Amino acid sequence: MRRGLLIVLALGLLRVLALAGMAASPARAGSSASAAAKVPGRGLEPGQKRPGQGRARQPQPKPRAELFAPQGAGLGEPFLVRVRAPKPLAGLSVTWLQRTVRLTGRALPGGWEAVVLLGSDVGNTAPGRHELVLRHGRKGQVVTQRAGIEVLPVARPVESLELDAAMVTPPREAYARILAERKLLQKLLLATLSRAVPAGTDARRWSLPLLRPVPGEVSSIYGIGRLLNGQPHAPHRGLDLEADTGQPVLAAADGLVLFSGELYYAGNAVYLDHGQGLVTSYFHLSERRVQTGARVARGQELGLAGDTGRSTRSHLHFGVWALGRHVDPEPLFLYESLP
Ligand SMILES: [Zn+2]
Repeated sequence: MRRGLLIVLALGLLRVLALAGMAASPARAGSSASAAAKVPGRGLEPGQKRPGQGRARQPQPKPRAELFAPQGAGLGEPFLVRVRAPKPLAGLSVTWLQRTVRLTGRALPGGWEAVVLLGSDVGNTAPGRHELVLRHGRKGQVVTQRAGIEVLPVARPVESLELDAAMVTPPREAYARILAERKLLQKLLLATLSRAVPAGTDARRWSLPLLRPVPGEVSSIYGIGRLLNGQPHAPHRGLDLEADTGQPVLAAADGLVLFSGELYYAGNAVYLDHGQGLVTSYFHLSERRVQTGARVARGQELGLAGDTGRSTRSHLHFGVWALGRHVDPEPLFLYESLP
């Protein structure tokens, strides 16, 4: 988000790494898909007991869902989880990293499928094995299916920035505003997970690959470590794309405007809710052209690029949130097609 004097050599290195990351993305996405483990009703066959369950228990109905999830994903890398069933599943939800979202699906030839995009956050997820929990069914007859997914550490570079001290440490009088904005956005992001969806409708408005909101090159990758004036700071939890002031910024997918307003760090900012826990954000705009609550289509102009907020030059900071976790947006521009 913050940019300053970047050592020329470091910039060259970052470009190389960014390009390497882009080149590697389809392979990563592909390998995740090919490594996807089919976990049909794991631990749910009649009579089967989960570890630690010695005593007789209520027999669960035979599962009607197949769960497709990768066995592992790099820290910050987004991945798809698919749930397939012969018929629509009632009360379907997925829980991952302490966040739960209700899932809806759509008919496929010969069945039905729900898809959710998940990932971990370079800022707050510990590498290691985490459990994905799928629930469906009606009250008293809820079926639970589980799959372990390994979050693998990813080596990412560190950039060193020299900035005005005032840019690194906000003035005391800005603290209350920064805190209030953080709380508001967190509330809005979490509200996207529990939003009611009318029965029989599909809440997923996103499709893959995501549209690149501006054509510019990557100037700062997701997850890069940051030394600001020699002090370690939080890693970069978005993707910086080169963009001149006044250049149109486009919606990465269909969605609803979750927030359109001015924020201390992000400047003029737009957040889009794409349904089923997926949110994108667009920061430092010189102008916003959508209102909170508006419905937008993939490719629609959201505003113009700029350098508002805590930014030292014109660029677009693009963020992707999966169940409220910042994930790496870049692989999603090259992801396998999901209409
Ligand atoms: Zn940024």
